[in-house]
Amino acid sequence: MSDISIILLAAGNSTRFECGIKKQWLRIGDLPLWQFVTNRFIESKKFADVIITGHPEEADYMRLHGNYTVVKGGESRQDSLKSALSHVHTPYVMVTDVARGCIDSKLISRLIDNRDKADSIVPVLHMHDTVVYKGNTIDRAELLRIQTPQLSVSGVLKSALKTETEYTDDSSAIVATGGTRHFIEGDETARKLTTIADLAALECLQKPSATILTGNGFDVHAFDTSGKMVLCGVDIDHPVGFKAHSDGDVAIHALIDALLGAAGIGDIGMLFPDTDDTYKGIDSTLLLTKTVALLRCYGFGIVNADITIAAQTPRLAAYKTKMRHRLGELLKLPPVRIGLKATTTEKLGFIGRNEGVAVMASATLNYIDWTQL
Ligand code: MG
Repeated sequence: MSDISIILLAAGNSTRFECGIKKQWLRIGDLPLWQFVTNRFIESKKFADVIITGHPEEADYMRLHGNYTVVKGGESRQDSLKSALSHVHTPYVMVTDVARGCIDSKLISRLIDNRDKADSIVPVLHMHDTVVYKGNTIDRAELLRIQTPQLSVSGVLKSALKTETEYTDDSSAIVATGGTRHFIEGDETARKLTTIADLAALECLQKPSATILTGNGFDVHAFDTSGKMVLCGVDIDHPVGFKAHSDGDVAIHALIDALLGAAGIGDIGMLFPDTDDTYKGIDSTLLLTKTVALLRCYGFGIVNADITIAAQTPRLAAYKTKMRHRLGELLKLPPVRIGLKATTTEKLGFIGRNEGVAVMASATLNYIDWTQL
């Protein structure tokens, strides 16, 4: 049985709705990068426990990907690490970053084989370029590039991090508190991935699979004499609007659920709760825009959407083209990728009695091909 736990840091700190595609969610084949890297460590069978830190708003979603120990991260790398360390019960702990996606197993073995040499075992790379500091050429033999993963005595690392001082790596915290550090030869495969371009250099990362995911959504809103009617982000000339916490755009609500359903993220009520006053009377196109951004953040592209509006009134034929263009703008798709149908229910049921409108929507997603970005 191994006496080492591994912590994988994947709690990127971009805010939930305001991010481009996040590194940890880039797809490697069918798996997000964090899962691909985690599986490699699990399959190595070198660790007693594998602990992943996730962004607080992503942790639940990460757990839906499999039986992983996901700990909610904090504001900084160090806060996230401290949270994860509280789950470590083994004498040794290795800490890495999911952005280092292709670490050679020989480097992991070298770290483990040297674990008795000091409180912290650190891979380093030597400088091969001439280095000039403030106008003077300095002795490059004295310069070391520190890498992760690093292997530490768990108790020593836990104590070293009982501080407000932020360290950029574990060994610096350990040395600052009187601990010892031992350097071993690092490896170019432990390169950190900071930009999408760095990914291309990592040969173990295959491009995303061509998987297509489908989702459906359904919503009903009752008519209400107050307010104007909006459907698919288009103002409808009708004497009544919809009863709702938001602007009542029932078509966009169904579409958001279809998109979230395809991604397996949840539903509109989870993301934009109607108990939250932020969303009172809100323009639903803003909710759709946030949803589209969120999908991108998680590495999803939208392929198409299709909507059926069931309404006895209003008559929608004159609005359909405008609706397709408006939704196309919001989903960043040409209108041909937005299906839009309207039907009555032959005067049957609550729709036929003119009490409200029901909408069904479906959507398909793919994985963004980061090799083409
Ligand atoms: Mg609704």
